[in-house]
Amino acid sequence: MPPVDRSNPVRANSSESSYSLMEFMREFPDDAACLEWLWHNRCSEDGEHAFCPKCDRERKFHKVRERPAWDCDSCGYHMHPLAGTIFHKSSTSLHLWFYAIHLMTSTRCGVAAKQLERELGVTYKTAWRMFNLIRNKLMTQDDEPLWGSVEVDEASVDGKPRKHMDRASAARYRERSRATVLAAVERGGRVKATVVPSRRGPHMKQQVIEWVKPESIVYTDEWPAYNTLYTHFDHSRVRHASGEYVIGDAHTNTIEGFFGNLKTGVRGNYKKVSHRWLQGYLNEFTFRYNHRSDERAMFQTLLLRAAE
Ligand SMILES: [Zn+2]
Repeated sequence: MPPVDRSNPVRANSSESSYSLMEFMREFPDDAACLEWLWHNRCSEDGEHAFCPKCDRERKFHKVRERPAWDCDSCGYHMHPLAGTIFHKSSTSLHLWFYAIHLMTSTRCGVAAKQLERELGVTYKTAWRMFNLIRNKLMTQDDEPLWGSVEVDEASVDGKPRKHMDRASAARYRERSRATVLAAVERGGRVKATVVPSRRGPHMKQQVIEWVKPESIVYTDEWPAYNTLYTHFDHSRVRHASGEYVIGDAHTNTIEGFFGNLKTGVRGNYKKVSHRWLQGYLNEFTFRYNHRSDERAMFQTLLLRAAE
C-alpha cells in the first residue's frame, strides 16, 4: 500500500460526497478567494479585463486595496462584484456565506440555523437570515413543467413544539402550524412542492395543471381532491385504504420517498409557525432533490445563481 499523503486527503470510493469540506477549503481558502471567484464569474472572464461602462469599452482593471472593488486602469471607475448579490452590504464575510451554502448542499436532511450559528460563530439571527436568503433567493423553484410519468401527493406538515410547552399547548401549536404541502415528481426526474391553502379539490387541481404538461400520465392515491384530474391528464390511482400500493405502474412510492425525507428534515428544523418559512424549506428540499446526482454541481449552481 502506498504511503498516505496527509496533506492531500483522498475521498473514499464508497463516500456519497462528491464535494467534501476539504475540497471546498482548497478551492475557497479565504475571503479573497471567494471575492476573486465573483469577480471572475460576474465581471471579468480572464480576471484582468472587464467592460468599463464609463470608457464604454474593454479595459484593464486592478484590485483596489482593502476594498471589495476593482478599478479601471484608464478612468478609475470602480467595479463592485458584490453589488446586487445577497452578499452585498452584509456584515458577514463572504467566506462564511460560501461555507453556509456548501453546508446546505452537503447534507441530506438540511441544517438547523442553530448549527450554522455554532459553526460560523455568528448570532442566531444572522444564521437564520442567511439560510432564509439562500432558500428564498438562490434555491427558488423554476417554472419548467414536469412531464412523462408524474406522481402527485399531499401531506400535512406540523411545526415542532418547543421543549417547555405542556401537552395542551404543544397540541395547539401543532394545530396552528399545520400546513398542507402538495408535491409532484417526475419518475427519475425533478420534483416541485408548495404550500396549498387547503386540501380540497380546486386548489390542488389548479396547481397540478400549472406544474404538469397535459400529455403526461399522473399517478395519485384515492384522495377525492384528485377526482377530476382525468379531464386534463391520463390519470391512474392506487387505493391505499383498500391496501393497494403498487398495481403495475400505478404507485406513488417516489413522491412518498420525497415526503419522508422532507418530514424528517422539517421536524428537526422547522420551528416557527409561519407558512412563509415552510415554503423556504420546500425550496431547499426540492433543490437538493433536483440536483441529487452531483453535490459539486449543486454548490456551483447556487454560487452562479448568487452571481446572476
Ligand atoms: Zn474606464
